[in-house]
Amino acid sequence: MTPTILKEFRCKNCNKLFFKGHILEAIIEIKCKNCKSVETIDQMQSVTP
Ligand SMILES: [Zn+2]
Repeated sequence: MTPTILKEFRCKNCNKLFFKGHILEAIIEIKCKNCKSVETIDQMQSVTP
């Protein structure tokens, strides 16, 4: 079992945690249950230091 580094995806509006995951390439549209705003998460191989 190798530990997986999970990135936290949060609402930009209210900072509520949507989910944790490891995504290589994806565009996800999610509606925040907290503030009802629709957020788009695009993870297109962004370079993280
Ligand atoms: Zn929100």
